Amino acid sequence: MTQHVPAALPDRIRHFIDGAFVDSVDGDTFDVLDPVSNETYVQAAAGKQADVDLAVAAAKRAFDEGPWPRLLPRERSRILHRVADAVEAQDARLAELESFDTGLPITQALGQAKRAAENFRFFADLIVAQHDDTYKVPGRQVNYVNRKPIGVAGLITPWNTPFMLESWKLAPALATGNTVVLKPAEFTPLSASLWADIFRDAGVPDGVFNLVNGLGEDAGDALVKHPDVPLISFTGESSTGQLIFANAAPFLKGLSMELGGKSPAVVFADADLDDALDATVFGVFSLNGERCTAGSRILVERSVYDDFVERYAERARNIVVGHPNDPATEVGALVHPEHYEKVMGYVEIGKTEGRLVAGGGRPEGFPTGNYVAPTVFADVPPTARIFQEEIFGPVVAITPFDSDEEALALANDTKYGLAAYIWTNDLKRAHTFSQNVQAGMVWLNSNNVRDLRTPFGGVKASGLGHEGGYRSIDFYTDQQAVHITLNQAHSPHFGTGGPLQAAH
Ligand code: NAD
Repeated sequence: MTQHVPAALPDRIRHFIDGAFVDSVDGDTFDVLDPVSNETYVQAAAGKQADVDLAVAAAKRAFDEGPWPRLLPRERSRILHRVADAVEAQDARLAELESFDTGLPITQALGQAKRAAENFRFFADLIVAQHDDTYKVPGRQVNYVNRKPIGVAGLITPWNTPFMLESWKLAPALATGNTVVLKPAEFTPLSASLWADIFRDAGVPDGVFNLVNGLGEDAGDALVKHPDVPLISFTGESSTGQLIFANAAPFLKGLSMELGGKSPAVVFADADLDDALDATVFGVFSLNGERCTAGSRILVERSVYDDFVERYAERARNIVVGHPNDPATEVGALVHPEHYEKVMGYVEIGKTEGRLVAGGGRPEGFPTGNYVAPTVFADVPPTARIFQEEIFGPVVAITPFDSDEEALALANDTKYGLAAYIWTNDLKRAHTFSQNVQAGMVWLNSNNVRDLRTPFGGVKASGLGHEGGYRSIDFYTDQQAVHITLNQAHSPHFGTGGPLQAAH
């Protein structure tokens, strides 16, 4: 299959530190592949401790001495709206680069570019509407919250929808007046380098945004262990999150952890089954199945099970697998050959654990590149690895159930708890189920349609803390309590021989 190579690719992907593109201190680089040819198309600077030290020092200077944390919210908001304008203005180019680097279908990459702009607009608006609490104790005190940016935020992001997920951290971290060091995923560093010019042109001062490329165990690790970085916002695998949690512990850092998922989509017999079919097919096969909130376990009530499985398999077989740059493509190429091997490994495991009803290997006509046919396994028992483990590809497990209790037990029977999708027209069941399912986010009769104001995050192995709306503002700020005394001071008179209780 012929690769579409975007025009004017950079000759090298560099770090961006204190307003300048730079190579690594030791000159080291790593290969970046495109997922259609699996050939190296560019070298990226491989950051290590020395590069992270420089980036953190620049960010700390910009925080301690620069204007950014001291600007009025309205002034920062204007700049962030300009960032959103710039992202929107180049969304087609962004989508082209992102699709080339990640293998995401171009139409979906375009949607993610628009979301990135929207994230900036949302936090630019939120920060000017931000207000804080005041508490009155009549006659004695007025106490108020003095909200402050914290310092240098370390942002560590994964390779799925990289630019959009970076925006989800960058926008609130910057809106609240912090300075940042971003460490993007090493599989997909191309789009992150666009931020540098976008921020500079919008008026973000040098040193406020810094970017260090490199491997997780080098650049990511140095950021996590840097004493001048009090906050780490991480999105990635649960096992990496556990390691980062441990590595950050000696420094008592603020941590936000958005981790893996194995989210259930539960289809009751009384649901609008056509809508459920549309949403559950989209829910696992969009973004190539490389989606943290993918509904990758579908639980279906027995009375409609056979019919649902048959229709689902037919839809999966008809999904258009194609070149990521083709607007007709629904599923493109997986991000990297290592990830392709992992997903294909699960496809083989699935053949021993469930009944294969669609896909099951490479799609026809795609002898090279990281292509996996949309794959559906039915009759998957909860003990199966493909039921329990996050595959992060176009592979779904379908399991029947006979009662609400069984559906709930199956839904909760994994270590994860990110999202749940529930399909029923029974109001009481919908809410009872929602409130008992172990998931950070529930969608009733819907696929993952986001409201940026709501908390985003998982429970159990899917995460710690919430981002989204004011939760992000809370994460990136300190809320200092300032207590004001009214009338006389209220101290006991120790050492005076007078009364031990304060006068009222
Ligand atoms: P990953 O954990 O392998 O890597 C994520 C980032 O962490 C990368 O930038 C990587 O370089 C860095 N990293 C790796 N080891 C590190 C270390 N020791 N110290 C510091 N940084 C380190 O994850 P991935 O494979 O890039 O992404 C896929 C995973 O992300 C999936 O599990 C998916 O569910 C999850 N994810 C979660 C959400 C969410 O919001 N909950 C969103 C998207 C993706």
